[in-house]
Amino acid sequence: MPNHHSKTQNKENTNPTNTPTTSRHDTKWTTFIHTSPQIRKIINLFKRTNIKIALKCNDTIAQPLKPANNTNPHTPYDRSGIYSLTCCTCQQAYVGQTTRSLKLRYQEHTRSTRNNNPTSAYALHILQNRHGYGPMNTTMNLLKPLNTPSLLTPYELFFIQSFHKEGKLVSEQNPAENNPLVQLVIDPSHETPT
Ligand SMILES: [Zn+2]
Repeated sequence: MPNHHSKTQNKENTNPTNTPTTSRHDTKWTTFIHTSPQIRKIINLFKRTNIKIALKCNDTIAQPLKPANNTNPHTPYDRSGIYSLTCCTCQQAYVGQTTRSLKLRYQEHTRSTRNNNPTSAYALHILQNRHGYGPMNTTMNLLKPLNTPSLLTPYELFFIQSFHKEGKLVSEQNPAENNPLVQLVIDPSHETPT
């Protein structure tokens, strides 16, 4: 059965820093665990209502886990830096940066999705398209571990551009296409002729 999380949502909405990027005040989001083909029938029942549905992929279709690195006491999810989050449904990815741990960022993204309060392009993608978000160990990837805050944005732009060029970036994320510096880093053939 749908779970509206309305209590949490109301609490979140009193916080001015959590204002959603789009105004969809009439829309309620709700989350289903994506386990049964009957879910599509249920979704159809909601089509004519103002309730949108976020799907969560089942852990049983998880991809193979990466081998554990025993020489490092920390997992990639304990580190900071640039990460990608891949949509379970369309396999398009979102690129983000964090000065804290990836684990904390993952929790924030999924909380924002479950609470129907999209505070990132990733949550917006999942909710708008009724796509599925998945477990951290199969959908989140550490692209570049970084401990220097000033390097986060340049690297984030670089990876956003790379994903965009390969057609793997969610359309909700701005690829900053006109940044000549990033273009130069990715494709040196863009150099100005001498
Ligand atoms: Zn998707």
